[in-house]
Amino acid sequence: MKITDIEAIACVWPPPENHFWTSFRPIGRVSELIVRVHTDQGLVGIGEAHGAGMPFPGIYKQNADGSLEAEGASRVVVDVLKPLLLGEDPLDNERLWENMFRLNHQRGWATAGWGRPQIMTAIAGVDIALWDLKGKAADMPVYKLLGGTRNTVPCYITGGYYQEGKTISDLVQECETYADMGYNAIKLKIGGVSVEEDVARVSAVRQALGPDMDLMLDVNEGYDVPTAIRAARLLEPLNIRWLEEPVHWYDRVAGLGQVAASTTIPIASGENAVHRWDARDLIMQGGVKVMQFDCTRNSGVTECLKVASLCAMQNVRLAPHHDPQIHGHLVAALPVGEILETFPTADRDPIWAELFTIRPEIHNGELTLLDRPGWGIELNEDTLNARGIWA
Ligand SMILES: [Mg+2]
Repeated sequence: MKITDIEAIACVWPPPENHFWTSFRPIGRVSELIVRVHTDQGLVGIGEAHGAGMPFPGIYKQNADGSLEAEGASRVVVDVLKPLLLGEDPLDNERLWENMFRLNHQRGWATAGWGRPQIMTAIAGVDIALWDLKGKAADMPVYKLLGGTRNTVPCYITGGYYQEGKTISDLVQECETYADMGYNAIKLKIGGVSVEEDVARVSAVRQALGPDMDLMLDVNEGYDVPTAIRAARLLEPLNIRWLEEPVHWYDRVAGLGQVAASTTIPIASGENAVHRWDARDLIMQGGVKVMQFDCTRNSGVTECLKVASLCAMQNVRLAPHHDPQIHGHLVAALPVGEILETFPTADRDPIWAELFTIRPEIHNGELTLLDRPGWGIELNEDTLNARGIWA
């Protein structure tokens, strides 16, 4: 089999009406880079990578007149990776990954006009499409190819965002809705108000939902080390399943290690890890017990399998960030797979709501993978035509 063409489509949704805030940042426009790898045998591999506007890792940019244009990783797929991959066998994912990754440390990479973040996001989209092709060529779901431990995966729901005018009783009501949906694990955002206010928010949820509901807390890098340690100690009595990215960006490895050493709450991180070496440092120096490597943000599945092997050696669990339709296969297949992240509403996750005509379903906090080849998903062409910008 040979690669004959590669498409990159940046899908961009309008921002939600009532902005959802994490500790420091509102969730703005949701976007996703779709990659389609075409072959001479008629099979088409579908890949996805996290979107963002430039100058963040970036798959699109907004022009002065408000129009949107494919940019960053979208352009890297078509302008840089496509010429490298045309004519290659898409099943050679390890060799092709090395060829793509090498662009980051070759003479001239910086003069190509793209930064490493854009290259790593582009690699993610392409690599994920190659795994779809591998599954389709073998007529097997990816989770079966990877080891096939199970076909159902537990999910948690992420909510508890800060929103204008939202009270603690609104927060409790929101979490009760999640319990009614059948979830028994909820992740709340903290770090955007004082530690005492956040402890009051989380206490109220714990009290309302009882001891059997798993609660995870995501700080989105909102604390310095002393504040993170103080917050963790105050939160320990609330039986927290994990504390996620508690430390500011500049001290996210060694500082995280100090926090991990001073609390009994397991530390989670990894959604911002770019490759296996980042993941290694978070595990070996940052004391991370729940690795959230997001192969749809960086590097793809080929790299995630290496991260998963390290997790297995270090007694760390894998709980990937976002995109359950892809990460579900990894969590299902690998014994280190723990749980998947999902979102409750279409304005927070329009990708899940609108991008597919066929995808797995979630019932009672559990995702069931389909017995279809590859990722088992079909894209909604109407959504692609309405939201997509071809690079
Ligand atoms: Mg997070």
